[in-house]
Amino acid sequence: MPKLQKYEQKIRRYKEKLKKLIIRIGISYPKEFELKDEISEKLLLPCHLGILFFGDFDITLFEKIKFRLNEIYDSYFFEIRNLGGYNFPIKLFSKGVKKEYREMKKSSDKIKIHPTNKFYQILINKRIEENLGMIIAITDLPIYSSNDDNILFLFGETHLKHRCCVISLLKLKEQFYNRPKNHHLFEQRVIKEVVHEIGHLIIGPDHCLNKSCVMRFSNDVKEIDKKLFNFCNECKIKLINVRERYNF
Ligand SMILES: [Zn+2]
Ligand SMILES: [Zn+2]
Repeated sequence: MPKLQKYEQKIRRYKEKLKKLIIRIGISYPKEFELKDEISEKLLLPCHLGILFFGDFDITLFEKIKFRLNEIYDSYFFEIRNLGGYNFPIKLFSKGVKKEYREMKKSSDKIKIHPTNKFYQILINKRIEENLGMIIAITDLPIYSSNDDNILFLFGETHLKHRCCVISLLKLKEQFYNRPKNHHLFEQRVIKEVVHEIGHLIIGPDHCLNKSCVMRFSNDVKEIDKKLFNFCNECKIKLINVRERYNF
């Protein structure tokens, strides 16, 4: 009998080790990082929106985003709050290497890609803590989706159930494509992506086919540049319908 107990202990230890290993290397498996959300009930509008920054950004960026959001979503938010910078625990993020990407690139470049679920848990906690209806994270780290294995590098992703989204600025910079820095263009792209992801939180997961609509899916930065900041007439109707449903 003691022998059996010993084996049980051993198996438990291995299980713990395995779990730690999975978190450390960031295998992109949907259950890799199960999200805990104590307040997951549906969105109520108008609401409070929080923006959390992962990394160092120009302080004017928040104000510029806020200005556009207030213009486009005029009465959807009571307040748009700057949640400041977040220093995430290095042990969670520093080893988020995606094996497939390394193999695909076949180079010695150590590119770290971060599964969005790791962001989501931090965001969910922050959303609850700050009493927000929705929350958005802005980062200059490369991210990959924990929900869709086929997307390696993302501009942004939204988690409707948990009312949060993540936007990666890395691929929005001209320097990423070895082109000269263009700060104005970069800011415009960031704002469009923020408007787009928040649009998903409000009107749902569908994309628009209208080339100039902010709700169109963008495969690359050129497609982002072709879009406007605003919704097309069809998407505006969707926004109005939401407003009528929530009666504000
Ligand atoms: Zn989208
Ligand atoms: Zn549209």
